Amino acid sequence: MKVLVINCGSSSLKYQLFDMTNEHVLVKGLVERIGLEGSILSQKNGEDKYEIKVDIPDHTKAISLVTAALVDPQHGVIKSMDEISAIGHRVVHGAEDFSGSVVINPEVMKSLNENIELAPLHNPPNIMGIQACQKIMPNVLQVGVFDTAFHQTMPPHAYHYGIPYEYYKKYKMRKYGFHGTSHQYVAERAAAMLGKPIDQIKVITCHLGNGASLAAIKYGKSIDTSMGYTPLEGVMMGTRSGDLDPAVVCMLMKKENWNIEQVDNFLNKQSGVLGVSGVSSDFRDIENAAIEDSNVRAQLALDRFAYVVKKYIGSYMAVLNGADAVVFTAGLGENSSSMRAKICEDMEFFGINIDKDKNFTRGVEVDVSTNDSKTRVLVIPTNEELMIARDTNKLMKTGKQSL
Ligand code: ADP
Repeated sequence: MKVLVINCGSSSLKYQLFDMTNEHVLVKGLVERIGLEGSILSQKNGEDKYEIKVDIPDHTKAISLVTAALVDPQHGVIKSMDEISAIGHRVVHGAEDFSGSVVINPEVMKSLNENIELAPLHNPPNIMGIQACQKIMPNVLQVGVFDTAFHQTMPPHAYHYGIPYEYYKKYKMRKYGFHGTSHQYVAERAAAMLGKPIDQIKVITCHLGNGASLAAIKYGKSIDTSMGYTPLEGVMMGTRSGDLDPAVVCMLMKKENWNIEQVDNFLNKQSGVLGVSGVSSDFRDIENAAIEDSNVRAQLALDRFAYVVKKYIGSYMAVLNGADAVVFTAGLGENSSSMRAKICEDMEFFGINIDKDKNFTRGVEVDVSTNDSKTRVLVIPTNEELMIARDTNKLMKTGKQSL
């Protein structure tokens, strides 16, 4: 039973083909520069690397090239597309319509289109990917897996903003949260590592990559998360500001005479550790600049990032009334021992104690806390694609419409 997982961006498309009998990845690939000059498909199957450089004007062409690469006699991994039982799509925003993964049908497509306004950059390419697959593989079951779905269990007092209630009704303005597939995956792995059922543990998951968010997960359910109505809320990120006084936005528009697009670009693309450091949005560059060049602003960006993540951990400790584990995942969380150490510094009050030697690790599942640390500190590489494949497989097997 093989499941194809697709993650469509505006000009890129990532894919992985899973054999669900053993959850092995048969092949992974990436289509880049869709609709631009120099488009390319690159596919990797162990040592075998395959590239197709042709004009790829749209997502339909990209999908048709993916299918050609998958069945390619020399570089492919299947003989015919009939071997693919289902396709799982990553969809960023499901709003309040989806609290789990769903089989895609016309009604679902209607909801996705209605939610474009909530995720104007992400949902349109997700929809294009689904439509391209429907066109090229009309008989294959397709499933949508939403970044927001896992957080739909948040209670109203966590997801409402302090604005007049009618705007929640009128524009669906509330906290939704993102990275849900990742938070859910690492929470499940944390339960396995702790040797306890997920419905008996409380965890704080820290997805720290270019985009970053934390979640408070009680007995397997998300009860709060740092990203909000959009991914802009929460901790400071690579290029996003994260939380700030909304009055700053009004004042910037007034002083700089900026329109909505300009201020949106400023907060999403020019802020975060990039804006603070003036060096880069990549934490590796910033760590290098801070250490090798003694760059003061680079150090400030690192200090502020760690401080804000620490504050969220503290607030979720309060929300959960203590946690069994704090989990670090995604590019920075999985790889940067110095950032993990900095975040967890002076948190003994919360029972958080990192073991310096164990913490010197990257990219593998490991408990990095001291033996007597009441709260375990876990490093768990995320695997959103596997979660998507699992949900797709489940829906296909059960024949249900949604999870
Ligand atoms: P996204 O999926 O949001 O683009 P990732 O989860 O891939 O982000 O994380 C990317 C970030 O992880 C990069 O910006 C980089 O700063 C950080 N990162 C990756 N490896 C390391 C490392 N060894 N040390 C420090 N930071 C790292």
